[in-house]
Amino acid sequence: MTLAVAGSEAATTAAVGQPLSFDQAILFAEFEGDDGALSEMRWTAEYPHDQLIHRVPRLRMDRANAAKCAEVTAQLEADGIRVVASDGDFVSLHRLIDAAAAAGVRPELDPEAHAAACPGHAVYVKVFPWADEATITPVCTTQNAHQPLSSYGHGTDEYAVPTTGE
Ligand SMILES: [Zn+2]
Repeated sequence: MTLAVAGSEAATTAAVGQPLSFDQAILFAEFEGDDGALSEMRWTAEYPHDQLIHRVPRLRMDRANAAKCAEVTAQLEADGIRVVASDGDFVSLHRLIDAAAAAGVRPELDPEAHAAACPGHAVYVKVFPWADEATITPVCTTQNAHQPLSSYGHGTDEYAVPTTGE
């Protein structure tokens, strides 16, 4: 471990103007290459030592979840399913519908039918904190081909009761 810390750029350049304890250096070395985690650890290291120790379990979980996400994404893509990034332009299928707002019956979009019929079909993969499994949400990247489920615009309330028109 000593050699790993000594060879870790993250550990040796972690904090400017303040020496790291050996325990802290080990933690920084563990997150070598993970810039997001390292920058969070840098400012956490400004506070008393315990803060860093307490933050690390969550950073480990974030890293494990990101790895799980990448694994599930790779599997889906190998199966020919398009996967969108979290900052992509997409809307959950739960928030879309094909019938016009005035229609009396507005069945939800069926993910399988949507996958076959809509070129905008994709899925969004997320591992929520403390969850064991990835959540795979069917989405549409061409939402203008459909109608928002809510009549109040962009489906801000996915549990909105579909309006039947007065
Ligand atoms: Zn669609």
